[in-house]
Amino acid sequence: MSQIDTLPPLREVIRTHELQAKKALGQNFLLDLNLTLRIARTAGDLSQTTVLEVGPGPGGLTRALLVAGAKKVVAVEKDPRCLPALAEIAAHYPGRLEVIEADALTLDLAGIAEGGPLKIVANLPYNVGTQLLLNWITRPAWPPEWQSLTLMFQKEVAERIVASTGDKAYGRLGVLAGWRCHSTIAFDVGPKAFTPPPKVTSAIVHLTPRETPLAVDLKALERVTAAAFGQRRKMLRASLKALDPDAERILEGIGITPTRRAEELDVAQFVQVANAFARG
Ligand code: SAM
Repeated sequence: MSQIDTLPPLREVIRTHELQAKKALGQNFLLDLNLTLRIARTAGDLSQTTVLEVGPGPGGLTRALLVAGAKKVVAVEKDPRCLPALAEIAAHYPGRLEVIEADALTLDLAGIAEGGPLKIVANLPYNVGTQLLLNWITRPAWPPEWQSLTLMFQKEVAERIVASTGDKAYGRLGVLAGWRCHSTIAFDVGPKAFTPPPKVTSAIVHLTPRETPLAVDLKALERVTAAAFGQRRKMLRASLKALDPDAERILEGIGITPTRRAEELDVAQFVQVANAFARG
């Protein structure tokens, strides 16, 4: 396997720093630096960009982002055991890697790029991946602080993110992601690429913000999609009744046949329904 930099191989880094993977932290490490370089390149030109990486672990993706030319990488890691390994990478790339020991769920995005362009690239811990994505795509201000998200998920979650009307995986996540973002699956990554290998295939999803998402009350959109897809086989007049006893009348008022089901409505129609339920 060709080397992408002159730092030690990741297996050696893991051995030296005793970074045995912890399941509770969603640790499945990528040791193939050519694969991590492919992920970094999926994020496009990074030369003018600060990259936020969540969960650098032993630093395989971090190194690839730096090799790919990221102007600066800010890496947020919850596991203090990884910090000495990351410090070695920072020393190799003076001034280009900042490591923050923190829980990414509580991180304030606003200060990360100091007003400059920001991209987020991560092999996410699966236990908090969906919540992090939701935090990033439901920012109150839009366009958000970030220009793109390039993220590893379990393939089944990746399919739900990019799904639209008519897809089997279409649901709440697809509506929320589709409302605010364009998204595609860039490529799949098999279990064997990880140490330890997870049970399922993963996939890299690339998301960019829509310039002008349809105006909607976010809380109402979240409530309506949760209720509609929570009982996805039911007709909307039944599944949305819990939100308003007048569900049938509200749906008719905006020209949506109350006997339709959640999976038949596209994002624009969900926005219409959410706004109508917010008005009552
Ligand atoms: N980026 C490395 C790679 O690709 O090999 C590691 C990826 S591993 C799937 C997920 C990483 O996220 C682990 O290093 C784990 O410690 C870290 N992590 C887990 N929960 C976190 C959280 N809430 N905030 C920040 N990092 C977290």
